[in-house]
Amino acid sequence: MSVKNWQIKRDMAYPYEEHRPKRQWAIVFDLNKCIACQTCTLACKTTWTSGKGQEYMFWNNVETKPYGAYPMAWDLNVLEKLGRQDWAKNGTYSGKTIFEAAPASERVVHFAPTDEDWMYPNVGEDDCAGQLNAQGEYIDQLPHDQWFFYLPRTCAHCTYPACLAACPRKAIYKREEDGIVLIDQSRCKGYGECVRACPYKKSMYNPITRTSEKCVGCYPAVEQSIQPQCVVNCIGKIRVMGFINPPWKARKDNPIDYLVHEKQIALPYYPQLGLEPNIYYIPPIHADRAYLRQMFGPQVDGAMDRYRKLTSDPVAQGLLVLMGSTDRIMHGFKVDGGKAQGFDEFGKELVSVPVTENVIVRDAFDETRKVARNNTP
Ligand code: SF4
Ligand code: SF4
Ligand code: SF4
Repeated sequence: MSVKNWQIKRDMAYPYEEHRPKRQWAIVFDLNKCIACQTCTLACKTTWTSGKGQEYMFWNNVETKPYGAYPMAWDLNVLEKLGRQDWAKNGTYSGKTIFEAAPASERVVHFAPTDEDWMYPNVGEDDCAGQLNAQGEYIDQLPHDQWFFYLPRTCAHCTYPACLAACPRKAIYKREEDGIVLIDQSRCKGYGECVRACPYKKSMYNPITRTSEKCVGCYPAVEQSIQPQCVVNCIGKIRVMGFINPPWKARKDNPIDYLVHEKQIALPYYPQLGLEPNIYYIPPIHADRAYLRQMFGPQVDGAMDRYRKLTSDPVAQGLLVLMGSTDRIMHGFKVDGGKAQGFDEFGKELVSVPVTENVIVRDAFDETRKVARNNTP
């Protein structure tokens, strides 16, 4: 079948017909703000994967790029197997996707991590790329010569899931009401085709239940208009979950559409794989451009330039402040008069925050209590 993939700006081959759900679950992450505290990882772990056979599973993980990866080298493996990845000047991907490059009799380019690959969830943490030219060197340019960044990851509830395409039991389905991709545990026989097929390695095998399992998008919360555990517990307030529309239906007042389509500062990762993943990243402005181009495609240069100009854009600033301000799903937002508001699907206000926090400078010496407020009055 030929389906439309807006992230690579062209039609592509996929084993099933194009079908977009009524709503599509999506998360935007601002990678400039992640501190790798792993609170998201533990919030998911304690909620969903504390059972037998799930010990090694981190449906949400945070890895340090470029050297960290869980499972080990998942991204290098898939990029190498895919081969050349060319982009035309107009931003169209001219290479093959994992569906188009699949070997004869297979549906996707695939590989299976070994048991050892799953043993080190935080390998490479804080390992820095690049050379320090001189001891004590002052870094005053972007991108930095020395760099790393944290990449939080969940299942991307892809528009064209490779896990679903590869399952011979048709046990994997995408929900019409929110686009969340689930594995029907009663149909799954644990063949592991989804584990091999998912290029992001977000489907995992449970040796006790002998079935495959994956991030469920926190669907019980989403059904009650509450954002997922890994989002509402994020310490850095770097995430916002909502529903994304395709570009031809984008709404400027929808927080996700605004960041992805209107401002075009949040990008899907490895769009060249062809899955139309629905987790989007604001790229880290200090990191190496060539690496980021490989990860986010040629759109990354424009996205970063626009992100750095947001200081003179009160609407975008207001939306960034709204990230992490409520546990409810925001369907709309408005920024006016120094105030940013988030709304539910009926237009009712969920949250209101000042775009700029008031700064109050206390007197160094409190005359009333006769006490110094600073160490150096
Ligand atoms: S990220 Fe992987 S597991 Fe999740 S929907 Fe996409 S292909 Fe399936
Ligand atoms: S959406 Fe829910 S299930 Fe998925 S990674 Fe986040 S907390 Fe875990
Ligand atoms: S909780 Fe937020 S800041 Fe902490 S590691 Fe996760 S995504 Fe990053």
